[in-house]
Amino acid sequence: MARMHRTFSIKRLSRALQGFSVSAGDPNLIVNSMLCDTTRLLSKSPEEIEAAYSSNPLILLGLMEISNFASLFGGQTDWAHFFQLFRRNPPVTTFVHFLTPEPDLEGYSYPGLYVSQAAEPAQVIPFVQNVLRYVHHLHLWEERDLFSLVSLLRKRLIAAVVVTEEPDDFDFNLLRALHHLNIPIFSRVPLGPMFNYNQISGLDDLFAKIHRLCPTFNARKVKSPGDGEPSNAPTERFEFGGGYSSFGVVRAMGGIDGVEVRGKLEDEAGLIVDLGDADVDITLTAHIEDELYRMLSRHPWLRLESGGYFKLVLLGRLREPEEIGREIYRRLKERFALTLVSVKLILDSLRLQSLKASVAAYKEERRQALEKRGDFDAPLFACTFCQRYSKNGFCMVSVHHPPQCGLSYDALRAQALFTGSLEQFSIKRGELTDKRSVLYSGVSKFARILSEGTITKINLQSLRDSPPPVTAYAQNLAYYNDRLDGIIILSSDYDGYSPDRKTFFGFLGEVAGRQIPGVMGISDDYLRSREFLTAEGGLKRVVWMPSVLKERLGLQKFTYIATERECTNIMSLGSFLKERGFSI
Ligand code: SF4
Repeated sequence: MARMHRTFSIKRLSRALQGFSVSAGDPNLIVNSMLCDTTRLLSKSPEEIEAAYSSNPLILLGLMEISNFASLFGGQTDWAHFFQLFRRNPPVTTFVHFLTPEPDLEGYSYPGLYVSQAAEPAQVIPFVQNVLRYVHHLHLWEERDLFSLVSLLRKRLIAAVVVTEEPDDFDFNLLRALHHLNIPIFSRVPLGPMFNYNQISGLDDLFAKIHRLCPTFNARKVKSPGDGEPSNAPTERFEFGGGYSSFGVVRAMGGIDGVEVRGKLEDEAGLIVDLGDADVDITLTAHIEDELYRMLSRHPWLRLESGGYFKLVLLGRLREPEEIGREIYRRLKERFALTLVSVKLILDSLRLQSLKASVAAYKEERRQALEKRGDFDAPLFACTFCQRYSKNGFCMVSVHHPPQCGLSYDALRAQALFTGSLEQFSIKRGELTDKRSVLYSGVSKFARILSEGTITKINLQSLRDSPPPVTAYAQNLAYYNDRLDGIIILSSDYDGYSPDRKTFFGFLGEVAGRQIPGVMGISDDYLRSREFLTAEGGLKRVVWMPSVLKERLGLQKFTYIATERECTNIMSLGSFLKERGFSI
């Protein structure tokens, strides 16, 4: 269908808004409050607005935002939805706006891009609002600093606009405003000499160009319906093991790289995977073992199950034991860059019985090693995955300060030591200059490098003095309340309010991407750690958390920690604490 050609007149838009009164501080007016305040222009004549527009194309975006607001066309993403964009794997790194709907997009998946398509010009406003919130909250852009915004949009592919059809008058003016902000334009049609733009031949070309600018991005063609879809027909299932003599274990031990099979598939089954790489110690094998079960849980025909006793499961048809062993070996080598992987598939019940005790002893030794492990001997790691979307998106990780997103210390360690990822790496701890707050000179040095000088010191175990920066992935947020002299914790799965009227995502909007004394992103694992916020007194200093978190952590016996069931405001929390002997 031929597209309607819209004419454009800033005077007409101004006339439509005449008499409308709105405050620039209205939270719905992001473009007006952060970029270009047009609220004061509403009292001017259309001719005066036209004169101003001729020298500042951003006025169009400000007026269109007011027009959307006046016509109740919101389209704005709320805080929870906005932050969910960065809590995916991979997170959104680039907002892409198509000036007209592009039906062929349905044939692609494009993780890492947040795509909007405009059926109406007004739909460009939510796109611009998202870009402004993104650069302000996660790239620390100061509102109204047009020079820095333009530099930032030039330096990183944060936003892009795509033109697939000849732009009409209205779109042409929109392009002028977006071009003024330095948002890159990709166009399938010639746009003339007014704009610097990237010519594209189609979606494949667009995605290839985005990949070149942003190497972590990869688009994929979506399979046609029916292609490779799992069939609904019941799949035959063959189980081995599940009895007392069955076991599965990954150990840190030498061996011969390859696969060894003992016995035939009959009844019991056992699996021993020995890893001979020097960096694999007994504690890391627990994570690699879990990862092996997790990887195979999505395998087309092979599963390992550990509930109760170990089970080997084949789906569809029986396979030769050598094929099973080779598949386990192949998957492990694909996932981790290990040089010595010795897979032993044991199907002989006498052999299983003779090995059972030593495997159980190994697992017990591992449990104890994990429990005893301390911060001062195990290596430290850094993860910069969240720098994909945020300048200060990094974590410094130790055994007792695990990642704030809920990943484990060992998951990060395995990623740093045994994959090609450049986003996780080990760091030299340097000198321990403050034992209470756990201040290592090496951690602060890396923080300075990663934050380009904005964060110069990080205490791993202190909330109030130089805590690590908060990422959008934080599982929970801990913050200090001066009035109560205590710590409040909000969890991401709690959508109510804290006693001081904060919501998790609203508060995340204020603190993500920043190092803020008194605020820290923390995981459930960190809350369970014996070193949790030692500088502030640990769990003893926590005064409130949502009931869902308290139950999940099994902290019911900590009766001095209130939840929303006991206290919903600061006054009642104060009384609650006084009754329990706290001086406030
Ligand atoms: S460890 Fe930190 S930087 Fe890495 S993904 Fe988790 S929150 Fe992001």
